[in-house]
Amino acid sequence: MESRVDKQTQNSDYLSEFLSLNQVEGFQENYAQDITADNYFGMPIASIILAENKLKDQAVRRLGYFSMEYGLAPSFYNTFTSVRPLNPDNKIPENTVFSNYRLADYFFDVKVDSLIDLPIYSGGLGVLAGDTVKTMADYKLPALAVGILWRSGYFRQRFWFKHGQVPEKMKWEPKSYPGLIPLKNIIKISLKQETISLRLWKYYVYSYKHDYVIPLVLLDADVEPNREDVRRLTDQLYRSDNNWLKAMQRIILGYGGIAAIKELGYDIDTFHLNEGHAAFAFIEKSRGMSEAEVENLKKHFVYTCHTPVEAGHDRFPSDELRNILSDSDFELAQRLGKDRAGVVNLTLLAMNASSAINAVSKNHQMVMHLQFPKYKEQIQYVTNGVHPYTWISRPFMQVYKSFPAVFKNFEDNPMILAKAEELRSDEGFRKAVWQAHQESKSGLCSLLEKWSLKKDAFTVCWARRIAAYKRPSLVLYDVQRLIEIAKITGPIQLILAGKAHPNDNLGSTFVNEMMDKVDGLSNAYDYLKIVILENYDMYFGKALTSGVDVWLNNPLPPFEASGTSGMKALLNGVVQLSTLDGWVVEAADKGIGRIFGYKNGEGKIGNEMDLHMQEDSIALYQALEELVGLYYKTVHGSKNEVDLTSPWIDYMISCIVASAHFNTYRMLDEYKQLIWKLP
Ligand SMILES: *Cc1c(COP(=O)(O)O)cnc(C)c1O
Repeated sequence: MESRVDKQTQNSDYLSEFLSLNQVEGFQENYAQDITADNYFGMPIASIILAENKLKDQAVRRLGYFSMEYGLAPSFYNTFTSVRPLNPDNKIPENTVFSNYRLADYFFDVKVDSLIDLPIYSGGLGVLAGDTVKTMADYKLPALAVGILWRSGYFRQRFWFKHGQVPEKMKWEPKSYPGLIPLKNIIKISLKQETISLRLWKYYVYSYKHDYVIPLVLLDADVEPNREDVRRLTDQLYRSDNNWLKAMQRIILGYGGIAAIKELGYDIDTFHLNEGHAAFAFIEKSRGMSEAEVENLKKHFVYTCHTPVEAGHDRFPSDELRNILSDSDFELAQRLGKDRAGVVNLTLLAMNASSAINAVSKNHQMVMHLQFPKYKEQIQYVTNGVHPYTWISRPFMQVYKSFPAVFKNFEDNPMILAKAEELRSDEGFRKAVWQAHQESKSGLCSLLEKWSLKKDAFTVCWARRIAAYKRPSLVLYDVQRLIEIAKITGPIQLILAGKAHPNDNLGSTFVNEMMDKVDGLSNAYDYLKIVILENYDMYFGKALTSGVDVWLNNPLPPFEASGTSGMKALLNGVVQLSTLDGWVVEAADKGIGRIFGYKNGEGKIGNEMDLHMQEDSIALYQALEELVGLYYKTVHGSKNEVDLTSPWIDYMISCIVASAHFNTYRMLDEYKQLIWKLP
């Protein structure tokens, strides 16, 4: 592939071709130094020309991926560079910490000198979309992604002394964000009473080898002709203040995405709706079509559902939509998405508009079959994965590279990590795995050095979106029991992090509860250190999923559709402590750690509000006590000597073996076969 392009475009002028593909707004003033004959913000511009041309080749099937959010992590992966100094608004802010070492909290912040992640994601759904698009680039697929340019991101979490979180608007500057460019193109979408203008932006998602890209087109309502309240629609991700705003954000993604594809001259065969948020794309695409044509259009749409939680399915009062959409658009939305009388459900709309539907784990498929029995035949599953080169820490990358005979061609085929099994009794490998982990752990400890975290102390982390079903405070349910374990077995360091959606009052009370409990433990710091990090993001996600000894995951089964943070930990040999839910159901017998707690009955969903806190905390502490014990049997004394024969290292190796399955390469192979039906 590369050689063909080299020949084709050798000596030709990449820059003028680039500028004919992209009408960049303010090119001379703002971007001429960063986009040149061979360079795009520090990456090869030739990869853009190659991918854009492939995307216009009528002979191949082209994909359009629609998602409300994308987590791409340029703070540490494929970071673009710019000749201009980094705008301070685009740097990771200093974050505070709430711990049971209040003096350190008072005097210090966590400082990271790095670019912020492109702030167009909120959590797992966005990270999955980002990892998917990166893998499409690694696979050199003719594909394009569509999303929204959130001008104030999701939100910035601030801790307010010990009284919980205060959501703040996030400030960043798109115009100077490396790799992001505004286009001159402004599209219009037409609604019942008004027309809305959207500016198009582009961001190129490069492959791991920098030899290909996926263009990500971002929609922005903050343009002149729009009314003030319309201009704010693409301000903050998942605002839910009222139905109009919620519906409009989704209409902008669906309608705007289709209009943008047309405006930019792309021709897409398969539209992938990542979550029901994007379902309005089908309405826009089918405008003016006969009933038979609409029926045929369904062959070109596929849909991935990501939630088994009731609140995750978007529903809108019909009357609300009737006021927003033109009569014919509303009729189609109503026909395909009508749930109870008077409600349009975007999950139903997406399912009725698609020829292939999938859940994101085997367990989630079971839940969807119970929730939507009418669609049972159609609902398949493709278990989520994580993008290996985003999430493998540098020390572990080194380990995998240093056994080339076993991990042959591992860059193109991370599934080969399963061969770690062959090295299970290889002392050199066991040692390398342990040392790589120690190195990652040192990195994390130095990030938190003011809280005097110790490299030789057992460290466990719970970090994810704060939502009731994820049970963020389970590990703090009985803090006396935690203290007991630490006193008897050895010191424990517990790191917690996560944002609650600003309108999720129940979620926010968990933050308060956690802080309250930690506040009462200031005398225990010698043996039980608890650190709550502000503003959990992908940067911390990487440091934590590679730097702790145990990754704690305790959702209430079966409400976690998949979960992906534990998969990041797998790639770095981090031992799992989890309930039986989401992806873990498929890995429970693989020796990756300890599984504990409540199980939902076969064929039963159960009650999302009945959190089983008491019984599951008992089970959690028992499993934790065993893990702490095993850890301190593995590491001897203050010299940090390690017993390489310890079953602890077998857990670590089993994690690496399992990571061969729970990555986006395996996932994309399944999407290609089952959902997109690509050769
Ligand atoms: C990976 C990741 C998530 C998803 O975590 P889950 O375990 O799926 O809940 C959420 N937020 C960030 C910042 C992540 O990196």
